[in-house]
Amino acid sequence: MLATLPPPLWPPVQARFAALGAPFVQEVAPSPLPLPRLLHFNAALGAELGLDAAWSRSAAALDRLAGNAAWPGYAPLASVYSGHQFGRWAGRLGDGRALLIAEIRNGHGQGMELQLKGAGPTPYSRGADGRAVLRSSIREYLCSEAMHALGVPTTRALTLVASPLPVIRESVETAAVVCRVAPSFVRFGHFEHYAQAGRVDALATLADHLIAAHHPELAGAPDRHARWLGEVIAGTARMIAYWQTLGFCHGVMNTDNFSILGLTLDYGPFGFMDAFRAHHVCNHSDHEGRYAYQAQPEIGQWNCARLLEACLPLLDGEPDGAREKAQALHAIYRETYNDTVMARWRAKLGLREARERDAALVNRLLALMQASRRDFTLGFRALAKIAVHDDAPAQEREHYADAGAFDRWTQDYRERLRAEGADDDARAARMNRVNPLYVLRNHLAQAAIDQAQSGDSAELTRLAAVLARPYDEQAGMQRYALPPAPGAPCVDVGCSS
Ligand code: AMP
Ligand code: MG
Repeated sequence: MLATLPPPLWPPVQARFAALGAPFVQEVAPSPLPLPRLLHFNAALGAELGLDAAWSRSAAALDRLAGNAAWPGYAPLASVYSGHQFGRWAGRLGDGRALLIAEIRNGHGQGMELQLKGAGPTPYSRGADGRAVLRSSIREYLCSEAMHALGVPTTRALTLVASPLPVIRESVETAAVVCRVAPSFVRFGHFEHYAQAGRVDALATLADHLIAAHHPELAGAPDRHARWLGEVIAGTARMIAYWQTLGFCHGVMNTDNFSILGLTLDYGPFGFMDAFRAHHVCNHSDHEGRYAYQAQPEIGQWNCARLLEACLPLLDGEPDGAREKAQALHAIYRETYNDTVMARWRAKLGLREARERDAALVNRLLALMQASRRDFTLGFRALAKIAVHDDAPAQEREHYADAGAFDRWTQDYRERLRAEGADDDARAARMNRVNPLYVLRNHLAQAAIDQAQSGDSAELTRLAAVLARPYDEQAGMQRYALPPAPGAPCVDVGCSS
């Protein structure tokens, strides 16, 4: 039988971002990674890209994914961007440790970019080593796929390659390279960069590139830039509504970490909350709590304001006209956020209809959770067990310090359910598709990291498999649903990565 070999350039290369040339991209060769070892291949994503598991086991694949060989027909690229970090203008940043290694078309004909994170220094490394440590690479690899499985817009992760190469952070660690995948890695900071440099031509070129690739329906329209910015702002607001309703904290919401496609991007000191606290700060380097859980929606809006400021010249030749249009676009954020977040809270409570007092019902529950340090994920998952005609389940009641207040909330919740004629079983099934059982808690990630650092990636593989089906109760996997044991040492995450 004749073996059906893929053509040599499969999947097809489609170098649209690379075609922009200077000043947007520069060719940069990755640095060789010694003794690379493939720790994980994301077979589901690979299949979407036309890259199968057999390919992933080949020496040629490992070389490409470690940065030791180029993708046929593509020269690796770094791009330049700037940004606001922790509320202050940070000037030029750029891809200091990320290299675009291919642009390919997936099975649906959609252009996908492959980027290696940690493949060595670039002209934008600002004296740093261009590497990423195994610890933070595992966190990014696991979390981006966990978010995808939860239904949150995010960059994806195809492979995790480890190396014994020493990398110095607070202590000596070892290097790893993640291959990230997204339709585009353009950030708000790319636009801020060209605005600061007074390059209105570059702003327009970049916007038109993104419109052609991701919003072809807007191409050629005279008001395409304003309409496209409206899409960017709405996408950003929707992403943050997902974060809030999953108890996810990003940790470093700088404008250089904000994707123009509204994808969760740059997983560093992120965290899913265990016990609910509105003012929870997941990043121990964020001393002022700028990026606390409850601040995230406002920060998203602030970042959109920075993007609009940068894009003013695209909106109107007259400054007053441009400002007026920017204000109208800015208003899209609040409206989209409010609509999306309320729709998601309602879905989490199993409500199909919208009633005026729904927001108050959600806020009362969150206040009760906070007062009792109830686990956010498990607290919401448990609501599916409340029956319209029964008292609050005793098991859940026990988690609340003020059981009477929880009973009163439950009574109001049941009344609200009765008002729309809710059916317990159908509602529970719906709720279990929006209230996950498994999220990437810090202690779970840390257990996989500790084991992988001693050379065993079995826990990483197990955890990735559990997180790929976050809404399904999985036999024998109960411990992956649990918060850290009481008194267990807190896993500290900061900017060092
Ligand atoms: P981050 O805080 O990870 O979003 O990174 C902010 C900026 O610092 C970006 O320009 C990164 O490319 C750059 N950067 C972070 N870590 C490194 C590193 N180890 N080597 C080179 N550049 C880095
Ligand atoms: Mg970043």
